[in-house]
Amino acid sequence: YAKKRGRNRFYWFELQMENELRYRNELETGVREAVKAQEFVPFYEQQIDLETGNLVGFEMLARWQSSKYGMVNPDIFIPVAEKIDLIGELSEQLIRQALSDAHEWDPSLSLSVNISPLQLRDPWFAQKLLQILVESGFPPHRLEIEITESCLHENVAAVRSIVSSLKNQGIRISLDDFGTGYSSLSQLRSLPFDRLKIDRSFVTEMAAENVGGELVRAIVALGKGLSLPVTAEGIENGKVLQELQGLGDIKGQGYLYGRPEDARATRQRLSKLGLLVKDHKRLSRIYG
Ligand code: C2E
Ligand code: MG
Ligand code: MG
Ligand code: MG
Repeated sequence: YAKKRGRNRFYWFELQMENELRYRNELETGVREAVKAQEFVPFYEQQIDLETGNLVGFEMLARWQSSKYGMVNPDIFIPVAEKIDLIGELSEQLIRQALSDAHEWDPSLSLSVNISPLQLRDPWFAQKLLQILVESGFPPHRLEIEITESCLHENVAAVRSIVSSLKNQGIRISLDDFGTGYSSLSQLRSLPFDRLKIDRSFVTEMAAENVGGELVRAIVALGKGLSLPVTAEGIENGKVLQELQGLGDIKGQGYLYGRPEDARATRQRLSKLGLLVKDHKRLSRIYG
């Protein structure tokens, strides 16, 4: 009996492996075709000045609108796109789209985009990004790029030179998911960051009043000490918000303010707030 069970288990394992492999191949083919068909869409998450409650910008978050799988989250397809070396192309498509959407947004609003460490290995990355900005007419000082795991171990000089050409044009650089394994204290010295984004896991723990809360306070203090503005991500409830508000001048984002939304819903939100460029034009026609 034991033997039989063992064998079955082995078959089961083999079947799993086979499914896994087939699924992975299928996913790679899917992502490859989706890049060709431009099936990726930008969603936008609000970023708020916690002191005033004002909307200050959006973080663009990639979604894959797949005819086969439905709406797919980036944790699934970004690693695949990285593996098959299409992350750069995918990212460019999304940024183009986002800059075109952001055209209608009030000039006070910023746009943050996540950049894969692999993209920073591309010696042409800065030129490509600046070219896209020029084509779109979007002011570089309103763009912020978010970097997590650094690829500095490999080619410090190359990454530095990319980052400095972006910064020379006014683009700001954030260290995303700060406090997790990928973004440790030593990384703060590696690049001239403009902002720290406190990882969601610590912010979520604030509500439970355990060590996460202490870590958030420590990171905010660190930001103050280094004159680095701080953003808290993953604010889900009023209690956490209140605690964060007590920590001083920081920005935040999270489901308390709303889930990431597509361009259309974002546009509607901005329209209600009077933060569409069109509204300005209309208002100045009426009153100006
Ligand atoms: P991230 O940059 O740290 O983005 C924050 C993630 O947390 C987003 O998930 C967002 O939807 C989620 N989130 C925000 N507020 C809350 C909250 O209050 N509660 C909870 N439970 N979750 C919250 P998403 O959109 O699935 O993105 C996951 C990750 O995928 C991002 O983490 C980012 O690292 C990566 N990513 C997204 N878009 C792109 C992209 O265009 N390029 C690259 N390279 N990576 C991307
Ligand atoms: Mg991010
Ligand atoms: Mg993050
Ligand atoms: Mg994250």
